[in-house]
Amino acid sequence: MVGASLALALAGTRLKVQLIEAVAAGSNEQPSFDERSTALGNGARQILSTLGVWDQIAPAAAPIREIHVSDAGHFGFARLNAAEHELAAFGYTVNNRQLGAVLWRALQRCPQVQLQSPARVTALDVGLQWAELRIDDGSLLQARLVVAADGAHSLVKQTAGIDSSERDYGQVALVANIRTDRSARAIAYERFTATGPLALLPLADGGYTVVWTLAPDRAAAMRECDEAEFCRLLQHSFGWRAGRILAVGKRASYPLALVRAEELCASRVALVGNAAQTLHPVAAQGFNLGLRDAATLAELIAGAGDPGSEQLLSQFAQRRGADRRGMIGFTDQLVKLFDSQRVTAIAARNLGLLLFDLNAPAKRALSRLSWGFGGALPRLSRGLPLQS
Ligand SMILES: Cc1cc2nc3c(=O)[nH]c(=O)nc-3n(C[C@H](O)[C@H](O)[C@H](O)COP(=O)(O)OP(=O)(O)OC[C@H]3O[C@@H](n4cnc5c(N)ncnc54)[C@H](O)[C@@H]3O)c2cc1C
Repeated sequence: MVGASLALALAGTRLKVQLIEAVAAGSNEQPSFDERSTALGNGARQILSTLGVWDQIAPAAAPIREIHVSDAGHFGFARLNAAEHELAAFGYTVNNRQLGAVLWRALQRCPQVQLQSPARVTALDVGLQWAELRIDDGSLLQARLVVAADGAHSLVKQTAGIDSSERDYGQVALVANIRTDRSARAIAYERFTATGPLALLPLADGGYTVVWTLAPDRAAAMRECDEAEFCRLLQHSFGWRAGRILAVGKRASYPLALVRAEELCASRVALVGNAAQTLHPVAAQGFNLGLRDAATLAELIAGAGDPGSEQLLSQFAQRRGADRRGMIGFTDQLVKLFDSQRVTAIAARNLGLLLFDLNAPAKRALSRLSWGFGGALPRLSRGLPLQS
């Protein structure tokens, strides 16, 4: 998702862009454009709109106008309303496959972007002026800049010598779409349960996408159990706020870890998206953050001579620092706070939710989360083309 978005952003520059993707776009095995749905914040919507694809995404996007946060079995509850912050919505839920189809179609119309898929990068060699990629069909490709958008366990990151740390959360996200007896009314629910966060995001068809964080063995059992049992157990954990749960679609699971590259660049190489940082989905920020990586890098490239110069790469790392650190820290702290079953932690988070519900500035700060944690906003997020 991030690599395709970057390629589209660069399509308006004078550069030749080669996008190498291991799994064909329409394939059921596509690991990025898969069955999941993504909550796009207003910042991401603005970037996609500036890139000229939002109008095609919008019909399949469900607005999120309210967010309800609660702690199962405790008193804490907070409600955010977009209208109170003069926003049409906090964000929009979009199916990854539909998002992928729109991006891919747009790329096919860009003569400077060559799509090489299915094709897998198998090796990287870096010189002073060029980097050379080996592709699995035996061909070699020389580039001034290689952007690694190849996911958490990026081969490009490893072969470029960039260290990365990985901390397993010991949790799995179980993802499925459900239908209830009440059509989703633009409300997203985040419920913190004893097993971990449970989110219901509204979908354009009136149903919800569920992201349920569970211990690995419990997630495996929930993935395999029959539909009636799944609906019963989900209803028990979530409650009745969204109505009676009637049906569940295909279930998929994702092991959760915080993966963080020590550096964002090496000679002739930059990292974006999951290759740079892979976050817990609790705050639905991974793609939103990755898209800002892509928008910032595209802007720097558009204004430079050599897209892989040392100066450009260090500017990129510097501009992404605050947003990246802020979002990684915020997400990680949220997981820890709501994961704890210690009495003091439960009291603190419930008091926190209650105070938060009464605290307008805190709500305002959260409603601006989708614009990032600091540093200059990329031009694409401000509705401006890459260059003035
Ligand atoms: C359950 C869940 C829910 C989420 N919900 C949200 C949300 O609501 N909002 C949000 O902002 N984020 C969300 N995220 C995070 C979001 O999914 C990621 O941030 C996003 O997928 C990152 O995209 P990416 O393109 O960087 O990497 P990936 O999606 O990991 O894609 C990497 C791509 O690289 C390709 N590739 C890998 N190796 C090679 C190679 N050697 N050669 C060529 N190609 C290769 C792969 O085939 C793949 O297409 C969620 C994550 C999870 C797990």
